[in-house]
Amino acid sequence: MPRCPACFIPMTRVDQPQFNHFTCGHCFGNWCPKPNLLHWILVDPDPSENPTGEPAIQDLAALVAASDTKKRLPCAGCRQTMRVSRLHLMIPVDIQECVKCQYVWTDVGKRALIKTLFHAMKNSTDPRIVALREKYAKVEATDAMADANARNPQPTINAPGGVRGFTAPFTLGSLVEFFS
Ligand SMILES: [Zn+2]
Ligand SMILES: [Zn+2]
Repeated sequence: MPRCPACFIPMTRVDQPQFNHFTCGHCFGNWCPKPNLLHWILVDPDPSENPTGEPAIQDLAALVAASDTKKRLPCAGCRQTMRVSRLHLMIPVDIQECVKCQYVWTDVGKRALIKTLFHAMKNSTDPRIVALREKYAKVEATDAMADANARNPQPTINAPGGVRGFTAPFTLGSLVEFFS
């Protein structure tokens, strides 16, 4: 059983439809294959277990601010130091990922916050958010084309804070669809 990258105790395997993952019984962080996490985020939230709206976002943001692991942790699979990255240009939540193993570590609260923000952003009619969506959809479409040309499985966007885009198969394309 893989050990928690932060606490080093064995994690518990959790099997859910489309979302098999490991969780740490001490810090409640989450360790899962990156495609599973992306899939889970893209699926519409169940309103009963994942409420959206301002209070939920504020509560989750407070939890994430408290749980955020600032230092880079070792991968639970290969023990190499993971990189800090982001799943989406518009979502300012740092995650850690092992490029080699394609696994992602999220501190407690982060994956729920990312999902909540993503769906709030997707559904927002606020003109400022709509304008941002259009702007980032163009950025992501350009990156997707560049990625396809380069055939680089791990594209990175050189931006402050190490912001990175989605990688195949849940690429930029699936997000751009939401935004078009
Ligand atoms: Zn832990
Ligand atoms: Zn690894």
